[in-house]
Amino acid sequence: MTEHKDIATECKDIIIIGAGLTGLSTAYFLKKRGKNVLVVERMPRPGGTIQTLYEGGYSIETGPNTGSLANEEIVGLLEELKNCQLEIANKAANRRLIWKNGKLHALPGGILSGLFTPLFNWKDKFGILLEPFRKKGVDPDEPLAGLARRRLGQSFLDYAIDPFISGIYAGNPGELVTRYALPKLYTLEQSYGSFIKGAIAKSKEPKTEQQKKVSKAVFSVEGGLSNLVNALVEEIGAGNILLNVNPVVSEAGSGRYTLHLNGQEIKCSQVISTVGAHSLPELFPFVPETWMSKINNVRYAPVVQVAVSIPVEAVDKDDLRAFGALIPSKENRKILGILYPSICFKNRSPEGRALLSVFMGGMRHPEMLHLSDDKIGELVKEELRIIYRRPELEPQVLRISRHSHAIPQYEKNTGERIQAIAEFEKLYPGIIIAGNAIDGIGMAHRARQAESIVSQRLYRLLS
Ligand SMILES: Cc1cc2nc3c(=O)[nH]c(=O)nc-3n(C[C@H](O)[C@H](O)[C@H](O)COP(=O)(O)OP(=O)(O)OC[C@H]3O[C@@H](n4cnc5c(N)ncnc54)[C@H](O)[C@@H]3O)c2cc1C
Repeated sequence: MTEHKDIATECKDIIIIGAGLTGLSTAYFLKKRGKNVLVVERMPRPGGTIQTLYEGGYSIETGPNTGSLANEEIVGLLEELKNCQLEIANKAANRRLIWKNGKLHALPGGILSGLFTPLFNWKDKFGILLEPFRKKGVDPDEPLAGLARRRLGQSFLDYAIDPFISGIYAGNPGELVTRYALPKLYTLEQSYGSFIKGAIAKSKEPKTEQQKKVSKAVFSVEGGLSNLVNALVEEIGAGNILLNVNPVVSEAGSGRYTLHLNGQEIKCSQVISTVGAHSLPELFPFVPETWMSKINNVRYAPVVQVAVSIPVEAVDKDDLRAFGALIPSKENRKILGILYPSICFKNRSPEGRALLSVFMGGMRHPEMLHLSDDKIGELVKEELRIIYRRPELEPQVLRISRHSHAIPQYEKNTGERIQAIAEFEKLYPGIIIAGNAIDGIGMAHRARQAESIVSQRLYRLLS
C-alpha cells in the first residue's frame, strides 16, 4: 500500500476519502467500470471499523463480527471478489437468546414455541392474531418503540424489539425513527397495512435468481472480515490507496477542488467522502457551519467490544448453541449482548475454547467508553458469571476495543440531513457525501450505497 509518495503529478478521475468498507467498495465498483481512482485514508491501515486480529489461535474481530446477506449488492460483491471466501454461519446462528429474569431463553422460531415462551405475556401473544387488523400509523416520524407497542404490545417491545435494536444500533428504540432506522418494517406497515400481511405478500412475490440469493443469512469470510478488506485492496490495487494522510478539501473554482495532503496538492473535479459525519467539518472547512451542522447532526453510539474466551464445557450447552445473547434494557445489566463467533464460524478459537464478543455502552451507557481496561474486564467477568449462572467461571479477556463513533443513530433529524446532503451536492457539484450518516448502518448497506454512488449519484458526472 502507498505510504504517501509523490502522487501530485498522477492524474486520477475520482478521489475517494476514507478506506472503510464504503470507500473500498466504491473504489472497487469504479475500477470495474474502468475509472482511475485514488483512495485516501488517515489511518495507517485500510478497513475502517473492520479489523481481524490473530492472537494465540483466536481470530478476533475488533469491529463487526458478521454481516447479513441482506441485498443483491453485498451478495454480488462477495461473489465477485477473488481471494475472499464467503462463509455462512452454521445452523447454531438461527438461535438467538434473550435474557429475562435470571435466565437465557431462545427467541421463538415457530407458533408452538411462540405460545409457550416466557419472553412475552399472554395478552400480547394472543394480540398478535389481531396485528393484521390494527390501523396503520399516521406519524411518519414515529419512533420504533411507538410502532412496536402499537402493533405488537409492550412485552414484544421490551423482550424482542429493544434487545434487537440494542444488538444492531446499540441504540434506544424510543429515539430511532422507523422509516430511517428500519425502512423495510416501515414500508410493510405503510404498503400492506400490517407486518404479517406484508411479510406474506412479499414471500409470494416472484424473484430473480440474484434476488433468491438475498437469503438474509449471517455471513463472514473465511479467516475473518479483514480478508474481505484484503481482497478489495487487491482488486483496487494497493498503489491506488494512500494511507496515513490528513486530507483537506478546498474550492479551486469552476466546479474543481484541491485536495491538500500533508503538503501536496491534487486538483480534482470529483471527490467522494465516505467518512463518518463527525469527520466532515475538518475535511471541508470551506462549508459554512450553519450548513454543515445540518449534515453532521447525527449522534453516534459509542461501543466497547470485549473479546473473551471461556472453556466450551464450562457453561450449559444450550446457552452457547446460538448466534449470541441479547440483554433487554429493562433487565438493567451492564452489557448489551454477547456474540458467539467461534460457535458460528470455523477456526476462530483453539480447540475446547469458545470466543465471545461482549458489547457494552451504547446510547444508554456512553460512560462505559471511558472506563479503564481493568474495570471493563472486571465488569465483563462478573456479568458472564451471572448470565451463564456459573459463579466459578474464569473468563479470559483477550482484547478490548473502544469505538467512540460506532453506530450512527437515525433519529428524527435524519430527513433534514438527507435533504441537506442533496442540496450540498447541487451547490458543490462534483462532491458526493456518502458514508454511514445516511443509507444504513450495516455492511450490506455500505455495499449498496457504494453501488448506488457509482450507478446513480455519479452517473451524471461519469456519462
Ligand atoms: C463495534 C461495531 C460492530 C459492528 N457490527 C456490525 C455487524 O455485526 N454487522 C454489520 O453489518 N455491521 C456492523 N457494524 C457496522 C459496520 O462496521 C459498518 O457498516 C462499516 O464497516 C462502515 O464502513 P464505512 O466505510 O462506512 O465506515 P468506516 O469503517 O468508519 O470507515 C471510514 C474510514 O474513513 C476514515 N476517515 C475518517 N476521517 C477521515 C479523514 N478526515 N480523512 C481520511 N480518512 C478519514 C476512517 O479512518 C475510516 O477508515 C459494526 C460497527 C462497529 C463499530
